[in-house]
Amino acid sequence: MNDEKFSSENPHRYKKPISVMWECTIFCQMNCLHCKANAKKERSPMELSTEEAFQLIDQILEFRKPYPILRITGGDALAREDIFDIIKYAKDNDIEVTIAPSSTNNLNRINLEKLKKVGIDAIALSIDGHEAYLHDSFRGYKGSFEILTKAINIINDLGIPLRLMTTVTKINVNYLPEMFVFVNKLNAEGWYLYLLIPVGRASIKYELEPQEIEDVYNFVYDLINLNVMKVDIIAGGEPFRRVFIMRKLIEMGVLKENVIKFGDLYKYLKKKLLKLVSETNLKKKEIKRVRRKGFGKGIFVAHDGRVYPSSFLPIEIGNIRKARLLDIYNNSEILEKISNPKYLKGKCSLCEFNSICRGCRSRAYAITGDYLAEDPLCIYEPGTISKDINMREFLEKFGITFYTRIY
Ligand code: SF4
Ligand code: SF4
Repeated sequence: MNDEKFSSENPHRYKKPISVMWECTIFCQMNCLHCKANAKKERSPMELSTEEAFQLIDQILEFRKPYPILRITGGDALAREDIFDIIKYAKDNDIEVTIAPSSTNNLNRINLEKLKKVGIDAIALSIDGHEAYLHDSFRGYKGSFEILTKAINIINDLGIPLRLMTTVTKINVNYLPEMFVFVNKLNAEGWYLYLLIPVGRASIKYELEPQEIEDVYNFVYDLINLNVMKVDIIAGGEPFRRVFIMRKLIEMGVLKENVIKFGDLYKYLKKKLLKLVSETNLKKKEIKRVRRKGFGKGIFVAHDGRVYPSSFLPIEIGNIRKARLLDIYNNSEILEKISNPKYLKGKCSLCEFNSICRGCRSRAYAITGDYLAEDPLCIYEPGTISKDINMREFLEKFGITFYTRIY
């Protein structure tokens, strides 16, 4: 029942999100340059209470099995003393739960053991550099790198699945090859990249240029091709789906290599990667495929109960204090528009890849103020490949949609 598509009018829309990201607090002692939560040094009186957090979990249960994953984020999620009870309640109800705490003194053995005890499914930590000077320069919290690496050792000791996340900015982009090797050495099951989107404290001056973004997409394609661990682009990654398919078709001889514009950054990163890989014994991790069938994109519940399409797209579509999440998700006109390529504007409306890409809606909104505007940092010119392949027909023939896992 729940696997059925939500609307016959919009075959791209599903009844439930794959995950509910909950910002359990905006309190955080760190001062990261790129904080999208605009974290504060005090707890907000608007935060969901323990009882309301339980009610949020009850609302997730209304989506019925298989439930959306609960992704707990912050602020510093471990600053909430009730967080273990909340996780236990979700786990007792068979919901998969992950947590992304800050690398503060709360990230200690006692708290990590408590997370293990209540059955956390994975811990996701942010790492912005392979060395202390690079990581700490983002974080505004002395000793953050040391706390992070110590915690990673404990997490590995406890056998909790570890995911590492990196915000890619002008400051660290040149070090992506070193960071990939470092993340692999830290025994992470996956590396998740966030291309900086100017939301909250994240300043546009740290955002990559359009060609640099294309170069990062191409570099990530090479990392995925190494096939040693999961690598994905979580924020700003929609056009990567276009790059992935183009690179595959180039490998198959269907497209010529010159349909992709490789910039200097890509050449630099690739050269460094090849050298590092030849000198390193990379660990091979099992690459798990996340279930997808019947799920739409994730959704974000802010600390005060407001619901947004994502943590990077601060357009309120409801509030769980006033309405059920299931109703908010299924009746939102904004989600409907985001999920259907026919509403896209500019070159994204014309693009032969828009049924699988749609551009980054958060980036469009952050830069232009219009969440349906063309992705302002995608360099692709629609129609570039039309003499070689009819992409719309190709995607339709193979049933590839926005929700298809293509890598
Ligand atoms: S650790 Fe996270 S919540 Fe805290 S300031 Fe940094 S980005 Fe914001
Ligand atoms: S033009 Fe828009 S739809 Fe096409 S690849 Fe770029 S971002 Fe995606």
